[in-house]
Amino acid sequence: MNERNCGQGSAEGGESRSLSAQDGQPLPQAAQSMSAGEAYISKRRDFIKGAIMFIPAAGALAAAAAESPKADAPKTETPTAETPRQEYNPAEHLYGMGIQIDRCIGCNRCAVACKAENDVPDEPVFFRTWVERYTILRSGEVSVENISGLRKDPVHDERDVIRTFFVPKLCNHCANPPCVQVCPVRATFTTQDGAVIVDSSRCVGCRYCIQACPYGARYLHPKTNTADKCTFCYHRVVKGLQPACVEVCPTQARIFGDLKSKASRLVRFERMNMISVLKPALNTEPKVHYAQLDGEVR
Ligand code: SF4
Ligand code: SF4
Repeated sequence: MNERNCGQGSAEGGESRSLSAQDGQPLPQAAQSMSAGEAYISKRRDFIKGAIMFIPAAGALAAAAAESPKADAPKTETPTAETPRQEYNPAEHLYGMGIQIDRCIGCNRCAVACKAENDVPDEPVFFRTWVERYTILRSGEVSVENISGLRKDPVHDERDVIRTFFVPKLCNHCANPPCVQVCPVRATFTTQDGAVIVDSSRCVGCRYCIQACPYGARYLHPKTNTADKCTFCYHRVVKGLQPACVEVCPTQARIFGDLKSKASRLVRFERMNMISVLKPALNTEPKVHYAQLDGEVR
């Protein structure tokens, strides 16, 4: 595969980046040691469960929900199969997302809604979720553009194009997350219900997690100087709401749900489709699962 332009959602270093450079990139040394990270996750899980809180204490989510009026006033309040509860028990849930590639029309509403919901900086180089346009050319090349960023219009003569499709991307909330393993101050952790979260009150902005993430899903927030990324809209999910990107998708290309609930649309999605993940060889065990994922997608 010969990739020319890869739009990157976290875009800390600009909108375009070579996918090939990432693919062969070994994880940092710290990523190979799991014991400290795992111990902390376990400790953190106990804390969250014991507190029976909707939002992790002192976490970035609490700050974001409190500081962002948009987060406090979600535009849609549709109840879901994950019904709101008086006392939320994270041990009862395991969240994930399904993405149906053949349904995505590249409208970019998901990325726009995410920015509004989560106070992501307006600059077109910062994203928690973004959409890439893959263009397969007659020459055999594969071109990738981030249409949520600076590049929105097709850049190829249509006579040179065999086919085009869109791939929404976001943090994969990996079950085996290198970003968590490398954090020297344990500011990023996995919740009991499967979301990978950054506690902005702990984050020292060292960027280790940004470097360790093989999916380009993190960026350094220019105002807070702390790492930022998709949280599955955790502040909404624990209230029984859908993530903002899922709510606004006009084609239901994104499906959010609880893998522990048999009634979840996500469980049906998993059952009905051949599921793929991004960069499976890295063994990060993503919880964002794709259907109809082309082999050219990295
Ligand atoms: Fe694709 Fe849905 Fe996002 Fe539109 S809102 S770009 S259809 S995933
Ligand atoms: Fe961490 Fe990146 Fe995996 Fe998200 S996609 S959990 S930021 S390694």
